Amino acid sequence: MESINLNQSIAKNADFIQHVGEESGQPVQKCYQCGKCTAGCPVAFAMDYTPNQVIRMVQLGMKDELLRSNTIWICASCSTCSTRCPCNVEITHVMETLRIMAGNSGTAPEGKAKYVEIMYNALLGTVERYGRTYEVGLVLQNNLKSKKLFNGADMGLPMLQRGKMKLMPTKVKGAAEVARIFSEVRKMEGGVK
Ligand code: SF4
Ligand code: SF4
Repeated sequence: MESINLNQSIAKNADFIQHVGEESGQPVQKCYQCGKCTAGCPVAFAMDYTPNQVIRMVQLGMKDELLRSNTIWICASCSTCSTRCPCNVEITHVMETLRIMAGNSGTAPEGKAKYVEIMYNALLGTVERYGRTYEVGLVLQNNLKSKKLFNGADMGLPMLQRGKMKLMPTKVKGAAEVARIFSEVRKMEGGVK
């Protein structure tokens, strides 16, 4: 993150701060950086700014950095973060507001839609198979398909060493039921089983 004068950023981007708060309807100013949102986010490892950093950056008016970040496109809108937030900040709404702003301002990076599609499919694939996210498999699938083999390695290796991610996948008890739900949804959508 570039070094910036925070007071200047807040003053310069007061409209942005107010707009994000109003459009998202979220009490972003209440966030006190406990980090619980990021701890639960299944795709934080692939983000350039973690969920708690995004909220802090909104508070600081860091408009340009946020509208150019990959985080707002990677967020899978799963709401895991929101269920953990002691301040009831629905981060998915904040991300959505930022995506709309990025789209309107033309700062959405080229090819991002394809990247997001790869990420979503990889995420859903691991949930269907194991009943939960399998971060290492998700990274590997994502990197192979996007042809960026070592993407995220700088964050992933320390997380493996600290036991925050498991090398091998584990299935939850209800994995078969989760797979059945995926199958039913495909049928409802008229897709192939
Ligand atoms: S969980 Fe809520 S209060 Fe904690 S850092 Fe995230 S947004 Fe802020
Ligand atoms: S809604 Fe987005 S930021 Fe929140 S946990 Fe899910 S992927 Fe992460």
